[in-house]
Amino acid sequence: MKKKAVFPGSFDPFTIGHEAIIRRALSMFDEIIVAVGANALKKNYYSLETRKEMIRKVFRDEPRVRVDHYGGLTVDFCKRNGADYLLRGLRTAADFEFERAIGQVNKSLAPGIETVFLLTVPEHSFINSTIVRDIIRSGGDASKFVPAAINLRDYKGTDEQ
Ligand code: ADP
Repeated sequence: MKKKAVFPGSFDPFTIGHEAIIRRALSMFDEIIVAVGANALKKNYYSLETRKEMIRKVFRDEPRVRVDHYGGLTVDFCKRNGADYLLRGLRTAADFEFERAIGQVNKSLAPGIETVFLLTVPEHSFINSTIVRDIIRSGGDASKFVPAAINLRDYKGTDEQ
């Protein structure tokens, strides 16, 4: 049976930290579904379509990575897609505490789904979407924090349209 993992997140925007976790996880899984959270209550900087398009660009030559979006519970999205694994990245102790609670709740909701954590490489441990977004909003150059395939000049934030 194919090993499928879901990598859920806001990806607002997708960074080199996210990309590295997915590329490393490709040695563990046959398919990875990058699942962009479509949360109507959360005000995102980039639209759902923009976030998906950016990620698709990064993996356009990698057929084992699929990009989708979802609302509702992450474990329900996993079940609908036949994925037995949830992939998450860990940067800091704060990430760990946050992820521990979510991982344990997910385990109790869906015992058949395992959450797998990959520790970030040290060079990426300070990179997070909030900071990257703040640089972009303030007119700075954030290109070194996003994959080379993403040209930030091609995309507008929802508050600039
Ligand atoms: P969420 O809103 O679910 O936290 P994010 O897009 O911020 O969504 O993150 C998605 C996943 O990627 C999370 O597991 C997060 O810990 C991980 N992640 C974010 N930035 C990095 C990074 N620089 N290195 C490794 N993992 C990261």
